[in-house]
Amino acid sequence: MDNGFELRRTDGKGEGVFATRPFLIGETVMVGVIDCELDRNHSHASQVGAERFVLHGGLVPKVNHSCEPNCGIRLNSSGAHDFVGRAPIAAGEEITFDYAMRNYSVDHFAARCRCGSRHCRGRITGWQDLPTQRKADYYGFVAPYLIEIDDQAHTDLSARRDHRS
Ligand SMILES: [Zn+2]
Repeated sequence: MDNGFELRRTDGKGEGVFATRPFLIGETVMVGVIDCELDRNHSHASQVGAERFVLHGGLVPKVNHSCEPNCGIRLNSSGAHDFVGRAPIAAGEEITFDYAMRNYSVDHFAARCRCGSRHCRGRITGWQDLPTQRKADYYGFVAPYLIEIDDQAHTDLSARRDHRS
């Protein structure tokens, strides 16, 4: 069966997932299924809640990072991450997302990012390290708890300020 994507070798980044047909903006490209729960964050972990990390099944963990990704994340009813087109995707194009769209902190990738995009940040970083403009660009395409963590941090900061004054 053709799901619309397949695993292939990339030039320089090992394996990647490639579209086998075109996808539109907002279209679900890959449906996420949670394989197992993890007790901590690691390089293939997906953060699905403020303190919850899982491993996705199927080809989802094979999707490479890009600093200018063609997919974003939407939480599905099972609590897993679906990949949704944030740009039109052509058949044969590699499917990518930004790891910062799913993890608040990313500290397992010390080496330089090799995504090759014009907007490459140089290193794969987490949501907490993204510039405000990038966060705004990704609005609607990131896991919702990342926004909640930001809001909470902001609230805590204001509460501390109020307490002092
Ligand atoms: Zn990059």
